Amino acid sequence: MKKALINIDYTFDFVADAGALTCGKPGQDIEQHIVSVTDEFIKKGDYVVFAVDQHELNDEYHPESKLFPPHNITGTPGRDLFGKLNDLYEAHQNDGNVYWMDKTRYSAFAGTNLLSKLRERGITEVHIVGVCTDICCLHTAVDAYNLGFEIVVHEKAVASFNQAGHEWALNHFKSCLNAKVI
Ligand code: ZN
Repeated sequence: MKKALINIDYTFDFVADAGALTCGKPGQDIEQHIVSVTDEFIKKGDYVVFAVDQHELNDEYHPESKLFPPHNITGTPGRDLFGKLNDLYEAHQNDGNVYWMDKTRYSAFAGTNLLSKLRERGITEVHIVGVCTDICCLHTAVDAYNLGFEIVVHEKAVASFNQAGHEWALNHFKSCLNAKVI
């Protein structure tokens, strides 16, 4: 079974104390684990996708504009990966199995070429890490489920600003998306 890691939105804006839409401490607490899972995938030669939210400033047509403050704005440091994950990405960004992919919706599949990239490589199992468990990780997992992928969620490498939402989503991955939560 060929697998890929989908590394979702672990950026300054979503994780740092000064981030525009931060998870805060729960996001910062997974740093070591998200780095070690990502490093393992990169070293084994498995496909690693950094799926990173991207917005334009004052985009009145984007549905998130009505819900959230501006975040992950094009050309700002808010879109940089957070902490040691940024170091790891910078060290491997030119590796053939590492792919930076901008996304504009919660799901990494919405409006991107992710599905083509996975199908081309014969990948049938997607592993999910990043933030937020109950928003972008969840919506990505739902799409992966509907597209027929096996799903693995790394429990210690996902986080949310909303602990109840985090726990609800972990359960939903297992009970409704048949995901392995490891
Ligand atoms: Zn967003």
